Amino acid sequence: MADILYFNGRYTTTDEKVIGVEDRGLQFGDSVYEVVKFLRGTPTLVTPHFERMSQGLAALEIPTPWTAESFDLFCREIVGRASSPDGLLYIQITRGEATRRHGWPEGMTPNVIAYPRKHSFPDAERKRKGISMITLPEQRWRACHLKTTNLLPNVMARKAAERAGAVEALFIDRGEVREGASSSFFAVREGRIITHTADEAILAGVVRDVAISRALEERIRVDERPIREAELYDLDEAFVTSTSLSVMPVSSIDGRRIPARGPITERLQRMFDEREELEAGARD
Ligand code: PLP
Repeated sequence: MADILYFNGRYTTTDEKVIGVEDRGLQFGDSVYEVVKFLRGTPTLVTPHFERMSQGLAALEIPTPWTAESFDLFCREIVGRASSPDGLLYIQITRGEATRRHGWPEGMTPNVIAYPRKHSFPDAERKRKGISMITLPEQRWRACHLKTTNLLPNVMARKAAERAGAVEALFIDRGEVREGASSSFFAVREGRIITHTADEAILAGVVRDVAISRALEERIRVDERPIREAELYDLDEAFVTSTSLSVMPVSSIDGRRIPARGPITERLQRMFDEREELEAGARD
């Protein structure tokens, strides 16, 4: 079903094909994107999404189309025009269109695209049961902290997971656990949370940051370091975080069961959901 589409300063619908064949997002994956969750017509965690997007654009030398304030207003406006009150807002800024060659001409004008999509967020049953994962070798480049649309390794990994009957793939790089194909990964062992350092090997998830802050407020110890692959065999709990899944328990990795949603995962899941409800409620 067509939904509202924003393209370079004007509103149309997703029925209109707005991008030309020489757009560099299409040709080279030369673009940055963000996915913002909205609930009851309210976009959530807008500031951290803006900050990550701005950092990515700066790293790729693509001009930022918004300030923090205008981005906030923009998200609220487009979400207000969406066909559903709950969903995901996709935002993509490509370097723009130019005759195809690898090195881009200076002074390009970016293409800015955004559209909301209705989304069924996990229900209570799914949030209790969790998701299954398979491990796969890391195949991405060395700047995974940038949220670009160069997602081929992620796409291939997710397809392999689905073909194996799992929900998500977990990237392993020379014996170290990185993150999911589209989620941050957390292990829980002896009352401590372990998750990869927010360096260039992973995307610093917006939900990851909230989960860590909430854990620290609860005086749960958080170790930010790469998890050894061998540690996956001896976990008390595991969970992933992402904008679409929030805090989601992991029920198995490569077919090995992990104990059902444990107390730390459940606590953080509840705290995240409450925070989100407050945020959505505050702007009602
Ligand atoms: N890691 C990767 C590779 C992702 O693609 C995503 C989200 O798409 C995440 C982590 C989770 O990030 P966020 O919590 O900001 O949705």
